[in-house]
Amino acid sequence: YTGIRGYASRAAFVTPPYQKLVEKLERVRKIFPNEKLTLAEKVLYAHLTNPEESFSGVSPSQIRGSLYLKLNPDRVAMQDASAQMALLQFMTCGLDRTLIPSSIHCDHLIVGHRGANSDIPDSIANNKEIFDFLQSAAKRYGIQFWGPGSGIIHQIVLENYAAPGGMMLGTDSHTPNAGGLGTVAIGVGGADAVDAMTNTPWELKAPKVIGVHLKGALSGWATPKDLILHLAGKLTVRGGTGHIIEYFGPGVESLSCTGMATVCNMGAEVGATTSLFPYTESMKRYLEATHRAEVANAAANVHQQHNYLAADAGAKYDEIVEVNLSELTPSFNGPFTPDLNTPLEKFSKAIETNNWPKKVSAGLIGSCTNSSYQDMSTVVDVVEQATKAGLKPQVPFLVTPGSEQIRATIERDGITKRLEDAGAVVLANACGPCIGMWKRDDKVSTEEPNAILTSFNRNFRSRNDGNPSTMNFLTSPVIVAAKIFSSDLAFDPARDVLQTPDGKPFKFTPPTGIELPPSGFTAGDTSYIPDLNPEPQPETEVTIDPKSTRLEALKPFDAYKGGEMDNLKVAIKVKGKCTTDHISAAGKWLKYKGHLSNICNNTLIGAVNAATGEVNVAYDKGEGMSIPELMWRWNSKGQPWLVVAEHNYGEGSAREHAALQPRALNGRIILTKSFARIHETNLKKQGILPLNFANEADYDKIDAEDKVSTRGITGLLNGALDEPITLIVTKQDGSTVEIPCKHTMSKDQVEFFRAGSALNLIREKARV
Ligand code: SF4
Repeated sequence: YTGIRGYASRAAFVTPPYQKLVEKLERVRKIFPNEKLTLAEKVLYAHLTNPEESFSGVSPSQIRGSLYLKLNPDRVAMQDASAQMALLQFMTCGLDRTLIPSSIHCDHLIVGHRGANSDIPDSIANNKEIFDFLQSAAKRYGIQFWGPGSGIIHQIVLENYAAPGGMMLGTDSHTPNAGGLGTVAIGVGGADAVDAMTNTPWELKAPKVIGVHLKGALSGWATPKDLILHLAGKLTVRGGTGHIIEYFGPGVESLSCTGMATVCNMGAEVGATTSLFPYTESMKRYLEATHRAEVANAAANVHQQHNYLAADAGAKYDEIVEVNLSELTPSFNGPFTPDLNTPLEKFSKAIETNNWPKKVSAGLIGSCTNSSYQDMSTVVDVVEQATKAGLKPQVPFLVTPGSEQIRATIERDGITKRLEDAGAVVLANACGPCIGMWKRDDKVSTEEPNAILTSFNRNFRSRNDGNPSTMNFLTSPVIVAAKIFSSDLAFDPARDVLQTPDGKPFKFTPPTGIELPPSGFTAGDTSYIPDLNPEPQPETEVTIDPKSTRLEALKPFDAYKGGEMDNLKVAIKVKGKCTTDHISAAGKWLKYKGHLSNICNNTLIGAVNAATGEVNVAYDKGEGMSIPELMWRWNSKGQPWLVVAEHNYGEGSAREHAALQPRALNGRIILTKSFARIHETNLKKQGILPLNFANEADYDKIDAEDKVSTRGITGLLNGALDEPITLIVTKQDGSTVEIPCKHTMSKDQVEFFRAGSALNLIREKARV
């Protein structure tokens, strides 16, 4: 490693500034001398910009769920799809470097097809303009650049940057993966990343804390994945909203660090702000194995001396969930939602009851969720049991290593060969099929349902292969690996018997794996490893071709004109689930992430029209058209609009395009029964006003094409945050109804709205 700008050594760069953090925490303890703190609170409070200012006149009971905290994260990580917009926004701020360590990871734009050797060069060729843009911006502003093939953002963060008690932001919703190594790691949009990169205090409403008390130890076929699949079923996709999930109890020590990362990764599926484990011996082992013994030592010291890396005895949780790991069995979550949990023993019955497909069409393992050495070594045990008995996979079996380090290590240790010998196709170290970048060769119909089994984390309709009929059942890697040896979806590897080619019965035994590679990790292709903290090179040109269809320089949004809004129209009233995949689809649209005008053409194309049940159909005076067409039409006429929706709007990811696009098309309000946290923040950052119905039943009183004016925005702009906002709705028959609304805008967020966007505000401040 070279280029340790401003840091005394590599160790200083990769170790959180513990001294500074515990000093901050001591200042908090002086303010609240009798408070017992959860681990989540300790780490967040240690990153406060100014504890005395934050907690002035506040009692401890007024913090969680109410108070906005101003925080200074230690670092930022960005994946290639979201980094484009984050950097386009950063570039408008006029700074010549990022002010905290930041990294870019090229992972989402790589297609999984025939295997890494051909997929990487093909993807580089198809995305050259984007990778060149990201690389040149990284060079110019002193950002670490992990190129295509280096691995998936969260795996690289775990291997290199995550550290107990640290805090980071990532422009991806599965950033909480780093909680497996005790980091408060939060998924955000690019505009939040810009806050951190410009050292602007980043605001977060103090989350409530769900404590998960773990007892016992996993056994048999159960893996850490089954813990989070079970919890997702219990908590549902909304259960973690506004909360950090903090694990504690004797069961914690039984888990590997990478297993805990899997658990934290999928906390995103219940909407949690992040998830977090206290410091464990397995974290120490993982840090040492990934060449960071200095971090392990510093963490152990700060933990011993200040109890910084675990909750205080007697700390209070807002809710406690009890889980006995010894009782967990494998399970499946899905299809189409990550919280529909079916234990393995009930799966065959559920297939019958729900009329799910009888056959498996493909098995996929890996992704950022489950591609650790332990995962891969356990999978190879399963695969070898079957192949030694003469069995062959009955369906395509795809493996995605999480990083070059994992790929090279499993190759060196013979795991890859054993998987390939059994018929697996090893894809590039990248997201691939997990994010719809899957060139699927087996011809599955878009009319007939088909079932895939994956060890991924997310399973919204169309996510993996763009086929709305593909049902993705999320499960552990070992269960995927076992079930591909029977094409029967109901096959239970813990109980059922298969027949070998020579007619003998075969039954799997519960597999075992190896936590960490006995010969250590090997880095593989070291050309992927960037300088640790590269110097900015201001002479580097970051070019955006004005004719490009994939990159477009950003124009600032207009500042709010003041007063009330009086001429809005409801563009679409959405029924049911509306995730960020519905608002700004991925798959083929990923290539337009850096071109706001072009990606606007996918706005809300997955949304269901509440009046007609049609997907992606809106109406203008009786004339039907796609939702983006209507929005473009109204935008060109200067007609501002709003969207009406149901619960957990914007669930799923940190995708800020889901906020940028409506704003660019003149959307000014999103009115819902509730929001997913990251999306609500993203809307505020882009100058859109997110409102909730004060009475959910009022959802029935407003329809598409109704005219809307506001009462209460003037008060909001004058600092009256508690005053209600009311929408005066004029129906198409001329009658009016009043809809009282709630909002969660803080004083600072009102300033984003007034300025037109958070970025406008940062720019204004930079000019001053
Ligand atoms: Fe990539 Fe899938 Fe992980 Fe997202 S969830 S970072 S798409 S592997």
